[in-house]
Amino acid sequence: MIFSEELQAWYQQHKRDLPWRETKDPYKIWLSEIILQQTRVEQGLPYYLRFVERFKTVVDFANAAEDDILHLWQGLGYYSRGRNMHKAAKIVRDQYNGVFPIDYKTLITLPGIGEYTAAAISSFSNNEAQAVLDGNVFRVLSRYYGIETPINSTEGKKIFTAIAKENLDQVHPALYNQAIMDFGAIHCKPKQPLCEVCMFRPFCYAALKGEVDKLPVKLKGKASRDRYFNYFILKEDDQVLMSKRGEGDVWQNLYEFPLLESKHSMTIPEFLEYEDFIRYFGANVNLRVLQTQTKHVLSHQNIYATFFEVRLEGDLIQKKSNWDYVFLKDLDKLAKHKLIFAFLERSNF
Ligand code: SF4
Repeated sequence: MIFSEELQAWYQQHKRDLPWRETKDPYKIWLSEIILQQTRVEQGLPYYLRFVERFKTVVDFANAAEDDILHLWQGLGYYSRGRNMHKAAKIVRDQYNGVFPIDYKTLITLPGIGEYTAAAISSFSNNEAQAVLDGNVFRVLSRYYGIETPINSTEGKKIFTAIAKENLDQVHPALYNQAIMDFGAIHCKPKQPLCEVCMFRPFCYAALKGEVDKLPVKLKGKASRDRYFNYFILKEDDQVLMSKRGEGDVWQNLYEFPLLESKHSMTIPEFLEYEDFIRYFGANVNLRVLQTQTKHVLSHQNIYATFFEVRLEGDLIQKKSNWDYVFLKDLDKLAKHKLIFAFLERSNF
């Protein structure tokens, strides 16, 4: 049997039962594909179910307020995905009469839809002969064929695209694409792939040469920068001071506690003499650490976050324009980014 037939035979036995596999509705497939970018299936599944339940059609999605979408998205990270989805849904509503496109050429023009997602949606919903190329597929192809060209280089992309196209089953593209993605996700895994029981073992370059751990090859990205985020939680009666993030930085438009960013880790005595801190909170303050520093990794930056509780003797000296008191009972309604969301979950706030 040839490569693609072997894969499909494997898939019939091992495929995962996932709700978006049961449908040809491009809207639902789009939801699942965007949610699952950079997200594990187990983590993404409840989000998918919530989105489908809340927004039954792409028009419902387009008509929603951005805050509602981000609120539902909260905890998934990479919030630009949620924003781009909203833009794409509005285009589908306004330019395509609310009918979600199913052809690759149209899909690729929508915000947030790249080559992989357009290939996935068009093949799964329309059986269009488009080969998907995601991290799982790169891994399987590089190991099986022994391709050492970096997968994130221009040259590598050309080579892998050509091989992916060659292997695509033109009659059953959807099945083939799902098969190779699942095979990469649960069999030819990044670590400890199941080579011992693999039907490809006698022909697989990496297994034969003992190079499984070396493939695929990836060029190193640019170094991450370190940032130190200090959150100050100030409660007044049944309200808490919250801050809405601005544009041009991470977590655009999402809510958090008042933040002072510093160039390095700072202690409580240092804050009590720190000009930026005193400008807003004053010097007559009780500070205590609610959560010691935790590291949060984003693409190209490491965020080191510490949460402090602030108790004032008098009034707040100054309030930034994006700071506002919010009733504690309404806190849940705000779209918050992952750091805040995780803090609130841990702290029984
Ligand atoms: S033999 Fe191992 S490395 Fe090769 S395709 Fe199978 S699981 Fe992947």
